Amino acid sequence: MLPALLWLARLHDLSVAIADLGDYSPSELRSEYDPCDRAIRINSRVIAKLDSPAVPGLLAHAVAHELYHHLEHCAGIRPSANRANRERLADRFAREMLAFPA
Ligand SMILES: [Zn+2]
Repeated sequence: MLPALLWLARLHDLSVAIADLGDYSPSELRSEYDPCDRAIRINSRVIAKLDSPAVPGLLAHAVAHELYHHLEHCAGIRPSANRANRERLADRFAREMLAFPA
């Protein structure tokens, strides 16, 4: 699924990179969408805490989650005024995308 999501990001002219997004403990910033730079960044600190087999799943979920925010930004998904609700919707979008057979 990750290659298809990376392809989808590229199709939307979005770069995807692993970067140090800082430490937000006790909460966790897994990834971010930057509409100005047209970029999705995944937090290297979160990846460093995972066992290797879990990394592709995290990357796929993060790219799908941030693609949702990109769609909110430019493709007509009306963003919820409530940030927590937006994050739940982005996570749900990611889970549903990852549930499709590769
Ligand atoms: Zn989000």
